[in-house]
Amino acid sequence: MAQKLNRAHYDVVVVGGGCAGVAAAISAAKKGARTLLIEAGTMIGGELITGLPVDGAMNARGEWIVGGSMKEILDEHARLGGYIGPIKDWRLIWYVCIDPEIMKIAVSNVVRRHGVHVWLYSFAEDVVVDRGEVTGIVVLNKRQRTLVTADVFIDCSGDGDIAMMAGAETMVSNEKGEFQPLTMLFRISGVKSEPLLRFCVDQPENLAVGESEWMGADLTPRECAQKLYDQGQPAIFFKGNGPLIQEGIRSGKLKYETALIGLIPVSKERGEVSINTTRIANIDATDTVKLSDAFGTLVDQVWSCVDFMRSSVPGFEDAHFSGLSHRVGIRETRRIRGDTVLTGDDVLNARKRDDGIGKGAHHIDIHQDGIKQVRIPVKHGGSYDMPYDMLIPRGVKNVYVAGRCMSADREGHGSARVMGPCMAQGDAAGLGAVMSMALNDRGDLRGVHVGRLRDGIRAMSGIVDGTH
Ligand SMILES: Cc1cc2nc3c(=O)[nH]c(=O)nc-3n(C[C@H](O)[C@H](O)[C@H](O)COP(=O)(O)OP(=O)(O)OC[C@H]3O[C@@H](n4cnc5c(N)ncnc54)[C@H](O)[C@@H]3O)c2cc1C
Repeated sequence: MAQKLNRAHYDVVVVGGGCAGVAAAISAAKKGARTLLIEAGTMIGGELITGLPVDGAMNARGEWIVGGSMKEILDEHARLGGYIGPIKDWRLIWYVCIDPEIMKIAVSNVVRRHGVHVWLYSFAEDVVVDRGEVTGIVVLNKRQRTLVTADVFIDCSGDGDIAMMAGAETMVSNEKGEFQPLTMLFRISGVKSEPLLRFCVDQPENLAVGESEWMGADLTPRECAQKLYDQGQPAIFFKGNGPLIQEGIRSGKLKYETALIGLIPVSKERGEVSINTTRIANIDATDTVKLSDAFGTLVDQVWSCVDFMRSSVPGFEDAHFSGLSHRVGIRETRRIRGDTVLTGDDVLNARKRDDGIGKGAHHIDIHQDGIKQVRIPVKHGGSYDMPYDMLIPRGVKNVYVAGRCMSADREGHGSARVMGPCMAQGDAAGLGAVMSMALNDRGDLRGVHVGRLRDGIRAMSGIVDGTH
């Protein structure tokens, strides 16, 4: 092997440029750390740039529960234009709608504003570990291999690659070996909202609505549909067991089973919605061959859904396919066991804690195969606190995990996996990393004073208290 090992040193290295990694890198760089963000793909932003709304940024009562980097990115999007903002789904959540194309630029602007160094097209393939401390990671790109050393590493790889290679324990799936489905998001433009919303009022039996005491549980489905009509946005959740989808499947127009056809407004100017519907369940997405094979099946589903919408749903008659996500969407792979594990019980009881470093409010949301999906709302439309120790993988000194590979049981993950809480975790990890650099034992994450970290989060417009 005729390869030389390049070398680079940073204060903080973040692996994975999805929403959690972007937040972690911004937060560390804002506090003056020389910060490197490493991303295997071609762009940063993850699911912020695929057409999804930001969930878990507000609770069901409509209170913001996440601020910090997420808010700064949303503000940058608003400054650039095309920002839609919070929408009440009259099912069980408030979500924040964004334009994925403008978001690509907004994310980059904020990351550059704070001086984060970004290596795209770069894969972190190995770690150097000395008695539980990661001293470097090996990154492969067109410059061959670089050993990147740092005081603290933040694993936002979604799959916990760094923590796992450093020896942390992983948790996968449930006892049945199930995984939440892979989904290819896509977009349709030229949608007319009025006939679509009128159709919903006329046939409310197709909608998932009124699933929370804060979202129309006391209303009839038709009354909820009328609220959606009055809101005027093409923000609709057609349920898998409703007559529209069931008849689509029976007639052969819709060539796959699904729990939902979720319409998410992404651009008023383009009359564009993003569609969350395609699915292949129970694939372990860390198996790259299976993940690659899934692409073909998923785009067949996309094409079938485009035809179905145009032929069967009012408002779509003259609409056209306008975009495909840049990657297959992965909801669930490995989770890393941290010093503390966020549980479904914490979520459902809206548990508050003195060591909370950020909040979540999304229901337990576990998609399954076919038309099945678990959706259990948080008590009283409130929020829960995520404990500091869930960021620290057991047995590892100077690595945080944040985002999809978080330390949570499957139910806790089913809630905190959405972007709001992932970004709050990223913010806390970035700031904690910088604070740990001032300790006598640099990078000792267990030595970080959690009270002072919470003060720092508040000072960066993060939210750790004051909400239901
Ligand atoms: C179909 C679908 C629908 C969803 N719906 C919603 C929704 O409506 N609202 C919501 O808020 N959330 C939703 N979620 C959940 C949410 O989007 C994700 O859980 C969240 O974005 C995860 O962010 P992350 O940064 O932890 O991980 P990711 O976005 O997966 O980012 C990880 C990044 O790390 C990179 N990477 C991985 N390994 C390496 C390595 N070794 N070296 C370098 N780079 C690496 C990857 O390329 C990737 O970009 C949905 C998810 C999916 C898939």
